Amino acid sequence: MRIPCPFCGPRDVIEFTVHGEARQRPVFEAHELDTPAAREAFVDYVYLRDNPAGLHVEHWYHGIGCQSWLLVTRDTRTHDILEVAYAAGEEEPAPAVVRTMEVAS
Ligand SMILES: [Zn+2]
Repeated sequence: MRIPCPFCGPRDVIEFTVHGEARQRPVFEAHELDTPAAREAFVDYVYLRDNPAGLHVEHWYHGIGCQSWLLVTRDTRTHDILEVAYAAGEEEPAPAVVRTMEVAS
């Protein structure tokens, strides 16, 4: 399987690590955090996952590459990648710094 990284281009899946379903973290005001509704929402967010047969949006990390967090829309039945984008709030990474080493002669 190849994933089209928006920065690096198409790369083999072994360069990436999947970090599960991309879901919106529950949002509560500070005074609402110690309520049954907030606890139930966080338990659901942390421990319960959907397992759809079809389109699934996941967080992937391009560790052996540009080290970007990506949102990958994948069909779980066929493993076809339909869309890849930077994760929310992340901008395009800066080009890698190339270091050279002088060799004494
Ligand atoms: Zn990349």
